[in-house]
Amino acid sequence: MRRKFVAGNWKMNTLSRSAVELASALAKAVPARLPAVDVAVCPPFPYLSAVGAAITGSGVVLGAQNVWHEKPGAFTGEVAVEMLLDVGCRWVILGHSERRQVLKETDELISRKVLASLANGLPVILCVGETLDQRKAGQTESVLDGQMQGSLAGVDVQGIGQVVVAYEPVWAIGTGMTASTEQAESAHLHLRRWLEIRYNPGVAAATRILYGGSVKAQNAQSLLEQPDVDGALVGGASLKVDDFLPIIRAAETARKS
Ligand code: PEP
Repeated sequence: MRRKFVAGNWKMNTLSRSAVELASALAKAVPARLPAVDVAVCPPFPYLSAVGAAITGSGVVLGAQNVWHEKPGAFTGEVAVEMLLDVGCRWVILGHSERRQVLKETDELISRKVLASLANGLPVILCVGETLDQRKAGQTESVLDGQMQGSLAGVDVQGIGQVVVAYEPVWAIGTGMTASTEQAESAHLHLRRWLEIRYNPGVAAATRILYGGSVKAQNAQSLLEQPDVDGALVGGASLKVDDFLPIIRAAETARKS
């Protein structure tokens, strides 16, 4: 059985005080590892250490929103995998649509980041997803295939064991437009079949596939009950404990065998 996973992507939000307040409140609400749900928060780089300290000993672990793929050295403004591990990160989000679209990250660059993270023992949350135009043009599955193929280039069976996939339709991120349960399940099933063909049935069955895109307390339960939805990557609703906690609770109750 796949453990559910709920991760909060704080994006470029919070300041030091609000980051620690949010992390502390969450740690208080999730004081120990939950029986069936993993919980992570991914604050901005400057607050990783402070948030890491605030959640120490709780059921919440630390993740980062990005990384650079080279060894530490002359890369002004970048952050190495070793640094993320050093401050306690247990996950890194890669391939987020905001980085693909705004920062023009290609699948090729994302794959380098994925490989560098995995080589150093830092598990990856890999985001893939189509735009509204691509969906309307009937290209959703081919876009997902291309992103999976490109972003996971060179990742072997052992490596994929350290990857969680997040299906995040671009049109649903931060828009309040959530994918329907049917749209989400169909994309997740497609991604699972892709994993089966590219790797093997065991990998397909074991890999967690999260849904992301305007997940809220109101829609979390029905999404998380879909057979191939193993959790949620949450943006806006992860910035308030009162919004994030019900999503974690929904993941707990949506547990399936
Ligand atoms: C995200 O940024 O990964 C995300 C899913 O954002 P939101 O929940 O705000 O749509």
